[in-house]
Amino acid sequence: MKINGTELARDLKNEVKQKTAEAREKYGRVPHLVVILVGNDPASQSYVKGKGRDAEEVGFKSTTILKEDTISEDELLDFIKELNADDSVDGILVQLPLPKHIDENKVIETIALEKDVDGFHPGNVAALWQKRPCTYPCTPKGIIKLLDKAGVEIEGKNAVVIGRSNIVGLPVSKMLLDRNATVTIAHSRTKDLQKVASTADILVVAIGRPRFVSADMVKEGATVIDVGVNRDPENGKLCGDVDYEACKDKAAAITPVPGGVGPMTRACLMENTLECFLKKMEK
Ligand code: NAP
Repeated sequence: MKINGTELARDLKNEVKQKTAEAREKYGRVPHLVVILVGNDPASQSYVKGKGRDAEEVGFKSTTILKEDTISEDELLDFIKELNADDSVDGILVQLPLPKHIDENKVIETIALEKDVDGFHPGNVAALWQKRPCTYPCTPKGIIKLLDKAGVEIEGKNAVVIGRSNIVGLPVSKMLLDRNATVTIAHSRTKDLQKVASTADILVVAIGRPRFVSADMVKEGATVIDVGVNRDPENGKLCGDVDYEACKDKAAAITPVPGGVGPMTRACLMENTLECFLKKMEK
C-alpha cells in the first residue's frame, strides 16, 4: 500500500483552515507566519515558496523576508529579535541551511521559544526529550501522523531509524519510543546495516542518499517511511533514500518521494503555527 502523504496533508491542512476560520471569528485575526530566507539557494527558494503557499491556503497571514547572503550574523540576530518583540507575529522560521558565516545554532536559539514553529529551539528539544509539552519538529511529527493516519500500529513494534540528525533521526526515534515502539537508531557506522534494517516492522530512513535502501533491507510486511529528498544521479528527478520500485511489493505500506513525508512536514508546520498562535491568544 502506498501511503499518500499528499492526500493526508490536504486533510490536515483542511483541519487547520477550519480552525483558523474559527480563530478569526473568536480573536479577530489569523496566525501570522514570517519566513526568512537568506541568500538565493534555489532549493531553499522553492521550499520557502511552498511554505508561503501553504500558509495562504490555510488562511494565515504570510510574510516572506528575503535577506542578502552578505547580511552579518549580528544583523540577522537583531532582525529576529525585532520579530520576537512584534506582537503581530506568531511564528518565525529561518530557512536552513544558512551561509557559513552565520552560526545556525545562534539563530535557532534567538527565535523566541513561543514563536519557534520549526520546533528546533533548545527549549523545545529539551521538552521533547523530557516528555513535556512542546512544539514538535515538523518532519518527525509528520511521520507519526502518517503512521497513525495509515492505521499502522506503533506500540510494541520494532522500529529502526536510519539516520541520527537533530532534525529528523533523533526526534523521530524519541517520538516512536514515546509511542512504545522498541527503537534502534542506525547510522553510518552501524555494522551490518542490512541485518539491522531487516528486523524492522517500521523502517524510517533519513540519510540523504538516493535509492540507498534495497529490497533485502526490508522485512516482508514492514512499513517503510522514506524521508530522503535527493536528485536521482541517473535522471536528475527527485527521489528518496529508498528504492521505491524494488521495495514496494515487499513492504505492507510505503511512502513515495515525492508525495510522502514532504507534504506532511509542510502541513505540520501550518499546524504548529496555529498552535503557537492559539497558545498566545488563550493565555
Ligand atoms: P543529515 O543531517 O545529513 O544526517 C544523515 C544521517 O544519515 C546521519 O546520521 C548519517 O550517519 C546517516 N548516514 C549517512 N550515510 C549513511 C549510510 N551509508 N548508512 C547509514 N547511515 C548513514 O541528514 P538529515 O537532515 O537528517 O536529512 C536526511 C534526508 O532527509 C535528506 O535527504 C534530507 O533532504 C531529507 N529531509 C527531508 C525532509 C522532508 O520534509 N521530507 C525534512 C528534512 C530532511 P552519521 O551520523 O554516522 O554521520
